[in-house]
Amino acid sequence: MTAAESAGAGLRYDEGVSGLRILLLFVDGLGLGADDPAVNPVVRASTPVLRGLAGGPLAGPAPRQTPVASLVPLDACLGVPGLPQSATGQTALLTGRNAPAHIGRHLTAYPTPSLAALLASDGLLGALRRRGVPVALANAYTPAYFEAVAARRLRHGAITLHALQAGVRLRTVDDLAAGRAVYQDLTNARAREMGAEVPVIGPDDAGANLAGIARAHAFTIFEFFLTDFAGHGRIDDAVEIIERLDRFLGGVLASLDLTTTLVILTSDHGNVEDGRTRAHTTNPVPALLIGAARDVIRDRLRAITDVAPACLALLAGGAAGAPAGAPAADPAVAP
Ligand SMILES: [Zn+2]
Repeated sequence: MTAAESAGAGLRYDEGVSGLRILLLFVDGLGLGADDPAVNPVVRASTPVLRGLAGGPLAGPAPRQTPVASLVPLDACLGVPGLPQSATGQTALLTGRNAPAHIGRHLTAYPTPSLAALLASDGLLGALRRRGVPVALANAYTPAYFEAVAARRLRHGAITLHALQAGVRLRTVDDLAAGRAVYQDLTNARAREMGAEVPVIGPDDAGANLAGIARAHAFTIFEFFLTDFAGHGRIDDAVEIIERLDRFLGGVLASLDLTTTLVILTSDHGNVEDGRTRAHTTNPVPALLIGAARDVIRDRLRAITDVAPACLALLAGGAAGAPAGAPAADPAVAP
């Protein structure tokens, strides 16, 4: 047991954990599917890091404990009929509110005004910043992205939208070139195709860069969505995407002090774990908890709506009653 864990053993859930940092690794469209390589690319992929953490393939509906991690299956359906989707699932993850119940259905892609309002009022990033907790969104955004949004060819997803609502800085290709941001493909290759002058790096290097950001903020979130693209068949090689993610996670963990940092890998809905369909699935999604304080929240996690309240409790001592003060300044210095 680490020092942070032994210190956390007697903690009440509403007290917060002093000095803790959280890295929320959001992986779109990653469910806990069948432990069958014929069906599940996650099982077929070579994932030494994930297997080491979970004590086997990241699959199956059962909770698991290993000496280094806890795997908790989370319900993503939230009692609403139909297949879970990204706009409602991500809003639920970020707010702790049952977003699909709120609007009466699972909604794909981009938040509606109603979901945007929920993110603005109840979103985790805003709640943390009002309590003075330093927050980062580690993704890098290219000029082409901002141009597409300005031209209304693209809309912000829930995480980007909520970061803007909360006054969290969107990182740029300059940050990416300096290793102070991570591109969505984990290698920068796609950013170069879009005209950004950035080096192509290994996923493990991108992981080290993410760890650098996480070391400088109490709460860091990074969004990876190529898993969902692969699940929809928009990328052919789902196994390669999973293996890329595994190398990335290895780079992250190698560069973090896990006695003071909690890494939470989670998702909004299943997709890539079932190669028999290009649609989302109703499978539970993982909350893979690695590092400090995982035992404090492990038993509190049942559904994707439990993630944001847990993060808020760990970092700010509970969701209720905290004063709404001025947002904490995003550190102007690197990373
Ligand atoms: Zn999808």
